[in-house]
Amino acid sequence: MIADDLDTATRRLSELLDRAEAIVPFTGAGISTECGIPDFRSPGGIWTKNQPIYFDEFVARQEARDESWRRRFAMEEYFSKAKPGRGHCAIASLYRAGKVPGVITQNIDNLHQISGVAAYDVVELHGNTTYATCLDCARRYELQWVKDRFAAGANCAPDCQCGGFIKTATISFGQAMPEEPMRRAEALSNSCDLFLAIGSSLVVWPAAGFPLMAKQNGAALVIINREPTEHDAVADLVVRSDIGDALEPFIQP
Ligand SMILES: [Zn+2]
Repeated sequence: MIADDLDTATRRLSELLDRAEAIVPFTGAGISTECGIPDFRSPGGIWTKNQPIYFDEFVARQEARDESWRRRFAMEEYFSKAKPGRGHCAIASLYRAGKVPGVITQNIDNLHQISGVAAYDVVELHGNTTYATCLDCARRYELQWVKDRFAAGANCAPDCQCGGFIKTATISFGQAMPEEPMRRAEALSNSCDLFLAIGSSLVVWPAAGFPLMAKQNGAALVIINREPTEHDAVADLVVRSDIGDALEPFIQP
């Protein structure tokens, strides 16, 4: 059912949220656009202007690592200023009310954590770009440290003290989906009674399979997205509006 207008959507969503005991939000780029984080995959987005650097290239060549870090530093003006939006705040409210066992996200911006969802309850399918790790020993590095070393080393990406390469904690193109988050996302999808797909066009597999998994397992499925998605036909409620507008009524102080 596609909601005719925002009032109908709010009323229907409110009923579904009240009735649900285990709500699993699944979020994509659309929830963060009002926070100033561009949708990298959209037409005109950064990934359509720059050729993505594939994981194999990153580990094979120092120049690829240098370029990858240069691009990341250029993005810092967006990531460092971003604050949670209305969608994040509404999800955090449901989480505080004890109705959300975990949030699955395709985003790498850390905004669910900043909004108040505990880091261990955020399942990041594509990782997190607000810090870095060593690809060999998994030691964590802060971006400022990498930036300082980069500048000090004649624009050269630094390596870990173990000799491994340091990369933002994200999943790159050509890199396998992380096993543990995939497993946890699957478990959450299979155990919820309400699945909220928010701000994702649901085209990127395997992530796009989670709403269907939830639905097949008997959960109600709500899709909130500006544009039509792949799964609108099977959803119990489709809200085609601005995500902040759709979720703002559910923010609790
Ligand atoms: Zn290391």
